[in-house]
Amino acid sequence: MVDSSASRRQAIYKEQHDIEKLREKIAHLEIQLEENDKYVVKLKQKLDDAVQEEQGHNIDQLEHVENQQKQLAPPVSSGSPSPKAVDSNREQILPPKENQGGGNKVQVVQNFLAGKEGASSAMAFANIVSSGKLVCPTKDVNYHADGDIQMLHAYETIPFDNPDGGVWKQGWDVKYDKEKIKQEKKLEVVVIPHSHDDPGWLKTFEGYFEDQTKHILDGMVEHLNRTPDMKFIYAEMSFFELWWSQINDEIRNKARKLIESGQVEIVTGGWVMTDEANSHYFSTVMEMIEGHEFLLNQIGFKPSNHWSIDPFGISPTLAYIMKQSNMSHAAIQRVHYSVKKYLAQQRNLEFTWRQLWAGKSDVTDMKTHMFPFYSYDVPHTCGPEPAICCQFDFKRLTSIGCPWGKAPEVITPGNVAQRGQMLADQYRKKAQLYKNNVILVPLGDDFRYDSLTEWNDQYKNYKMLFDYMNSNKDLNINARFGTLHDYFTLLEKRISEDKPLSILSGDFFTYADRDDHYWSGYFTSRPFYKHMDRTVQHYLRTADILFSLANWKANNSGVKFTGEDLYDNLVTARRAMSLFQHHDGVTGTARDHVVIDYGEKMVTAINNCKQIISKATEYLMKFPPTREQGLKIDEEHFVDKLPQKVVSEDGSVVVVFNPLGQPRQEVVCINVNSWKSRVGLPGESNTEILQQIGPVLQVIDNKIVADKDRFELCFLAEIQALGFARFNIFEADDVANKVKLRSSSEFESQYFETKLVDKSTDIIIENSHLKASFDVNTGLLKTLKEESELDVELSFVHYGARKHNRSFTGGDSLAGAYLFLPDGKARPLSSSDNSYIFVNGPIRKTIFVKGPQEAQLVHVVNLDVNAQSLYITNLVNITTQANFEVAMRLKTSIKEDNFFSDLNAFQMIRRKRFAKLPLQAQYYPMPGSAFIEDSNKRLSLLGRQALGVASLEPGWIEVMLDRRLNQDDDRGLAQGVLDNKRTESQFFLLLETLSGQPPDNDPTIGYHSLPAHHLSLALHYPLSILVGQIDHAASSEIPASTSLLAQAYPCDIHPIAIRTLSQPTIYGPGGTRSTKPQSSSGMVLHRLGVECRSKKELLTKCETSDGKISIKSQFVEKPKTVHDSSLTLMYVSDKETDSLLLNPMELKTVKISF
Ligand SMILES: [Zn+2]
Repeated sequence: MVDSSASRRQAIYKEQHDIEKLREKIAHLEIQLEENDKYVVKLKQKLDDAVQEEQGHNIDQLEHVENQQKQLAPPVSSGSPSPKAVDSNREQILPPKENQGGGNKVQVVQNFLAGKEGASSAMAFANIVSSGKLVCPTKDVNYHADGDIQMLHAYETIPFDNPDGGVWKQGWDVKYDKEKIKQEKKLEVVVIPHSHDDPGWLKTFEGYFEDQTKHILDGMVEHLNRTPDMKFIYAEMSFFELWWSQINDEIRNKARKLIESGQVEIVTGGWVMTDEANSHYFSTVMEMIEGHEFLLNQIGFKPSNHWSIDPFGISPTLAYIMKQSNMSHAAIQRVHYSVKKYLAQQRNLEFTWRQLWAGKSDVTDMKTHMFPFYSYDVPHTCGPEPAICCQFDFKRLTSIGCPWGKAPEVITPGNVAQRGQMLADQYRKKAQLYKNNVILVPLGDDFRYDSLTEWNDQYKNYKMLFDYMNSNKDLNINARFGTLHDYFTLLEKRISEDKPLSILSGDFFTYADRDDHYWSGYFTSRPFYKHMDRTVQHYLRTADILFSLANWKANNSGVKFTGEDLYDNLVTARRAMSLFQHHDGVTGTARDHVVIDYGEKMVTAINNCKQIISKATEYLMKFPPTREQGLKIDEEHFVDKLPQKVVSEDGSVVVVFNPLGQPRQEVVCINVNSWKSRVGLPGESNTEILQQIGPVLQVIDNKIVADKDRFELCFLAEIQALGFARFNIFEADDVANKVKLRSSSEFESQYFETKLVDKSTDIIIENSHLKASFDVNTGLLKTLKEESELDVELSFVHYGARKHNRSFTGGDSLAGAYLFLPDGKARPLSSSDNSYIFVNGPIRKTIFVKGPQEAQLVHVVNLDVNAQSLYITNLVNITTQANFEVAMRLKTSIKEDNFFSDLNAFQMIRRKRFAKLPLQAQYYPMPGSAFIEDSNKRLSLLGRQALGVASLEPGWIEVMLDRRLNQDDDRGLAQGVLDNKRTESQFFLLLETLSGQPPDNDPTIGYHSLPAHHLSLALHYPLSILVGQIDHAASSEIPASTSLLAQAYPCDIHPIAIRTLSQPTIYGPGGTRSTKPQSSSGMVLHRLGVECRSKKELLTKCETSDGKISIKSQFVEKPKTVHDSSLTLMYVSDKETDSLLLNPMELKTVKISF
């Protein structure tokens, strides 16, 4: 029973409370009004400054613009800062005036609604976006490296003929003069015991640890403590850390002593031995920091040598990352057998590896040792003859045996002379391939040394062999166990005494291990997870940045950041992404259940990051801490299906975060539950946001349909560098911003005007930057026009798998996870049954195509009102196919044959087509992008995940989207690739006009223009969209927009990461871990290398600084100290620094404490 007087009292109380609330609100509004006035004054000041700056811009830049203009004939007015540009800037900064003529944002919507859709075409946007400016850093970039061997040029010379070389199948009969060797300097032989441990392949990471790795590392401590002259090297810190978490302090101390004494060497010290084809340089730097931080915190060891023996093709980006991490030497293995032979013939298997952009400079030089033979196992490392070397793998005494028919023998006083001679002969032959009579002989294989028997057998037998060889003067050999460090120390001594190494530039893709077995399949295999990899990358980078800055603010303000308690989750996320960089992870070459395990770890990582992003956003935006429902990222992620947008309800608040170092203006789309939804700015602002509402389109049962329960609300947002902006979603009766639909076949929509498309002319969409035409029958792209028109015919093609080639003596393989072995040229997928819907909105135009059914293809092309490029999304599902590989092909009218693809999304390397190489050899990794160009046009395809790319004819680019292979390809995986899922790929397609002469007529490296760089960054690091509910009264406390930066980064400097450093982890019972953050972060910067021939204007509002950046004045929260550091923070300078100077392409880290 409710007492009526009590309920009356309650009602009165509630009324009073409401009145109080309203009073509060009025007070807030008054404050806000005052603030708004101040803001307008500030903006006006900013505008005046901008005008002044535009007029009297710094002389360097003006000169540069003038130079650019001189190169242009006829001069192009939009290339210079003009009053028009300033006016347009004014429109962006100031709220639009009422009833202004055409040109402001409200007007665009009104024009659109009134049917005034632009004069040139029904599909044109009104020209509302300001023009940008031609900016280019003044420092020149190099287009080649000085040196002795250039790999692209070497490809012209190498015959790729694969003759039978005898016992060394892929080489020749190696000989030496037995008398002459007695006069030579002693042959130094360094036998390096190693265990190659894959953090996931046939078993999961944890599976391998339980079954093998923990026994290997236990045995290492036990055996090496007993035998001080035995050595061991180890690379994978993921395993080492897991082991470390489970052992006691006594074992830890023993392990530390072995490392301190040099008996055990940690090589590279990354979290994994990263893949080099598909990995993005962000992830490589992060997995290196992850491993190095563990080493520094727990062991105090700093690796100086790099070891990359299993990745399937070798990238110079890795050599650079190691160099910047203060490493001096590298050992690499999986390189095309013909390249190895070519280098061996000139004794150039050891070389000084120079980066392609280095020119004459030696600052990037890395001394590199390349393995000469087929593999890193014992049969292929002691010398050229596997049948003999196999007999010196003493694990094979008790298990596996030798496939060449001759088993190993236990070394005894009776046979040591004969066996020692045999082995010395192999060593001596191997030395003939190198310059300095020092050889590296690895002694190990996958998951070796997992039993004490193996440790004992290898040790005892080799000891006897070494003693024999070293005491036999005629052999003139000094052999011993050693580490990689021991080897390179000896080599350096000999180099200084005898023969310096040749300088080499270029890369080692595409790898073939035998015959025409090119490993270009794994550039694309399991694209669903390659896509997920970049999603993790994006969320992790954002979470790390926001965690650092929130923690930073908490330190300065004393107001606790509750997200700090989530640091362990952040560490877990970093490690999940790092683990996947393994060369059977992101490569797509693990067993099905291992792939799922990686996927689960990555989804956990994404969810951990989202939690941190939400917490940090609330903290930094000053959201009241007591609200019931926090902010949530508007996207859900799954292990086995593509991400889904969360539906936002009316009344929601939307917070958008820009994780880039420069401001951006972008179309943001969210899913809403009402076709009446609109987006507005917080408060009572009457500033109109340019927006549109349209259907969410899908293909169901081979038909395009509109989702009945959700709609897509898109709006143009402008967000500051590392900045937030807040918006409100509300329902309005005025639904003036609806899109119009034109369909190729019958299509019904309850909410949007729908008509059949006029099939008499092609579809044209355009804005002030770009015009694109699409085939009216298929909906596929036909031409692009920027300054002039280019044919860009987009189509989809497929390959099958070829049958066994019986002529191969080694036995042929079929296409699988690693190998791309097509059954001839690609066949087109017919587009005659395509249907499409053209969505015409005021800020985004979309062509949504239901493509070929074989691939259940959905192809979506967007052109946004302010975009300089087309945004392409493909969804493919090839689960109904057998031995089927599907590619997107662009055939253009670009005549000249200049094709560049990227390495690790870090640099663009020149590729050439060689008639002597098969089709599968023309495929290269495309972890980031590719472009083709002639003297005045460049077409760039910028991707956001690793896929394979080729240019099979002049003017063509094709990119593989998915592959399904029904069989194993004999590289150990023992299964096909049949776990395909509906998979998404995204690209920007950018056409640029080039001006002026190419600075180098035979470049070996290319550079993106600044607009292309910024597009690539936008694709990789999209705006984070957070949605939640908010108490209206509280909302006035929350800023409408804010930035964590006092000033944006220069246009050509990208903050790769701002990553909080960890205190040493506390390991508890049962392998539990607790890690606390330090009050310092590593900030990793990259100065982009920029092509200045592009006439494309940069729309981003940023400045160039010639590589100079001041760290302390960069942030709103001022750091206490800034210290210069090596890339992975292993070496931090004692001296404080503030400003940095970066050269083009340079990667640099500073340690920031607060
Ligand atoms: Zn491996």
